[in-house]
Amino acid sequence: MKTVTILGATGSIGQNTLDVISRHPDLYRVFAVTGHSNVESLVRSAVLCNARFIVLSNESAYENVKQQMQQQHCHSEVLIGPEAMCEVCSAPEVDIVMSAIVGAAGLLPTIAAVRASKRVLLANKESLVMSGELFMNAVREHKAELLPIDSEHNAIFQCLPHNFEYGNLAASGISKILLTGSGGPFREKPLDEFELITPEQACAHPNWTMGRKISVDSASMMNKGLEFIEAKWLFGVDEADIQVVLHPQSTIHSMVQYSDGSVIAQMGNPDMRTPIAYGLSYPSRIESGVSPLDFSQLANFSFAEPDNLRYPNLYLAIEACKEGQSATTALNASNEVAVEAFLDQKLSFCAIAALNERVLSKLSTVELNSIAHVIEHDEMARNIARAELRKLS
Ligand code: NAD
Ligand code: MG
Repeated sequence: MKTVTILGATGSIGQNTLDVISRHPDLYRVFAVTGHSNVESLVRSAVLCNARFIVLSNESAYENVKQQMQQQHCHSEVLIGPEAMCEVCSAPEVDIVMSAIVGAAGLLPTIAAVRASKRVLLANKESLVMSGELFMNAVREHKAELLPIDSEHNAIFQCLPHNFEYGNLAASGISKILLTGSGGPFREKPLDEFELITPEQACAHPNWTMGRKISVDSASMMNKGLEFIEAKWLFGVDEADIQVVLHPQSTIHSMVQYSDGSVIAQMGNPDMRTPIAYGLSYPSRIESGVSPLDFSQLANFSFAEPDNLRYPNLYLAIEACKEGQSATTALNASNEVAVEAFLDQKLSFCAIAALNERVLSKLSTVELNSIAHVIEHDEMARNIARAELRKLS
């Protein structure tokens, strides 16, 4: 029996995690669920999985939670604040932490889980984008077990050889990591219509159902850019070793190309319960609730190269990745500000990339030697992004 803490339990990944866990009451029990604002869902989730703790990221929802708990006959204990989120990750009872908070807010509790040597299921790609090298050093130092949940990275993980040596593709006979992406809802939209894109259109992903921030990132392909950076750190590879491939059907979740010409791909229906189940049960396999692929329905498989006019954010992210940690931290911060403004209808879709580019051009490269320093840099970039946003609007 493994004990699990779920960070971001009310979100899309959090709810899918609870769904997989509910299928295996003999294998997993839930220690804590954390949430930010969706109090009704947080309490309902705690009741369903019989969580020992409910953790709220801030005080403001406390009265609401108490009321909901009374209504729903919930007996969990309530904790509040960022420190409590870290504590439920590092508690000795906990074996596995699902890191599924969206954005930079996920960094500190995820690092707490790493420092406590847990099995960390990483959905929160932003924490690796912000602190890649420091994060991976902490994983090694504390002998944490880091398993990727992002479907592409989970796929790559499944396609790597068992003797894969971190950072040494050649020794494993690998020539390239092929990171696939669908191209999002605007893959074929005329570029002159981009100015009028609404949040609802951007959030309507053709293949995946996800939270709003990652949905916008998928539409702009910033998500693939963040995943490019994530892949670099997860597998210790160079920028030149990763190739982004458009694959609109999202059936192949990513591939590894070997030097003998073999390409190993991981396939499945686009449903996050597959990587979540694999992360929970690795190296075994458990039932996830995902329906099997029906090959008679897969009429075509197509592939293309992404276009840099359509997806400027992808190329900004690849350039930031080459520049280094401070650039990727700044880009992530700026993008969070820009996407929030777009979702609030204060910024156009095209202006997301323009804002990100301006923020990057205003910051010079610095060494980030500690997590505190990363957070400071993140805040500086956010402030610049907000100032630029005011100028634009
Ligand atoms: P979501 O918006 O559906 O859920 C986000 C969760 O984070 C919620 O539980 C929310 O309460 C919590 N949260 C938000 N702001 C917070 C704050 N300031 N402090 C504490 N908690 C906060 O997002 P999602 O789609 O589930 O994505 C979660 C993470 O997983 C993201 O990093 C995303 O990039 C990654 N991811 C998601 C998918 C997917 O299919 N949804 C796939 C791959 C990776
Ligand atoms: Mg992904």
